[in-house]
Amino acid sequence: MKGKARRSIAALGDVRAAVLRFCGEQLSRRLDTKPVEDVHQKVSACVQQVDPTMTPYIFGSTVVLGVHEQGSDVDFVCLSPADVQDGKGADAVSEVAKGLQSGFLFRLSEVVKREHYLWDIELVRRTRVPVLRVKGGLGVDGVSFDVTANRRNGVRNSALLRAYFTQCPEARWLSMLVKQWSKKTGLNASVDGGCITSYGWNIMVVYYLLRRKLVKLVPVESCDVANIAPMPPYMPLETPQQDGQALAVMLMDFVSYYLDEFTPETEVMSLTRAAGETTKEMLSWTKQAEDMARIRGERIHYRWCIEDPYEFDLNVGRNVTPFKLMLLRKHLERAQETALLLLA
Ligand code: ATP
Ligand code: MG
Ligand code: MG
Repeated sequence: MKGKARRSIAALGDVRAAVLRFCGEQLSRRLDTKPVEDVHQKVSACVQQVDPTMTPYIFGSTVVLGVHEQGSDVDFVCLSPADVQDGKGADAVSEVAKGLQSGFLFRLSEVVKREHYLWDIELVRRTRVPVLRVKGGLGVDGVSFDVTANRRNGVRNSALLRAYFTQCPEARWLSMLVKQWSKKTGLNASVDGGCITSYGWNIMVVYYLLRRKLVKLVPVESCDVANIAPMPPYMPLETPQQDGQALAVMLMDFVSYYLDEFTPETEVMSLTRAAGETTKEMLSWTKQAEDMARIRGERIHYRWCIEDPYEFDLNVGRNVTPFKLMLLRKHLERAQETALLLLA
């Protein structure tokens, strides 16, 4: 993304102070994973009634960051012994497989309704992945969660991100800063009108770290569900080193990388091959592919390309339209002035 206009950039001393404030605030909150363990136990008891051979695995931010942030949902997937044994297997994408997953989630929803009548639940079958959504209320101690079935990819991609974030102490902080900023600006898909999920932002953070050689490439095949625990261990966060200097530099460099160096016209953020080697052309992620998708009735864009490490031919940035890309650029410019709004 090349920009011609001169932009004002926040002073590093101010960024450092703001970053330390952010980390201090986080550290003053409860970040342990006990609330997640409690929900895990309740969900396990319900799953047991539907099918005692199925095990609920936790994935998403609890795994990726090793903490439970207030306001983040908890992601569960119920796996069969066969799913776990074949822990590197590809997930089935057929309508039949989706039907079986919906069937299991329906039976689970009936048990949940009976056992926890206060929980606000919704079974969503029409999405790419059928999901049972439970909104945090009185009954679940304010924790919201999603349950899916028989899909290993979330467990694998979360383990992959965790393997990156544990390589470098600043990385987890950077991920938290970027996620909070993406939610505040409305760029995060969890906000109405948003376009990139937290998962997508995390891949962007890792891709940036790889481009700067701040982390080593983790082979995607190394993540095997058979070797991953259903409930991840808590990883307490620590105050950033050097008074936040390295983190402040990294934060500003992340923004300038995506504003001035990354080339969305040709390049794909990918964790599958060495960083910088994946092009849109290689994946046939072209205007023509967008047009073909439209004919099939799908809205897929290849303007901001983030290759899913486990799902074949899936752009995690598929909801970034040309208009949203322009917005993204505006927010990045503002992020350079405000250190991801920390100074706004
Ligand atoms: P948050 O704290 O906001 O919940 P998170 O780290 O849990 O952040 P989510 O965006 O909730 O991240 O993603 C959880 C999981 O959902 C991912 O590990 C991934 O498997 C799946 N997922 C999320 N977004 C996408 C997407 N755009 N395409 C494919 N899979 C996705
Ligand atoms: Mg989540
Ligand atoms: Mg979720």
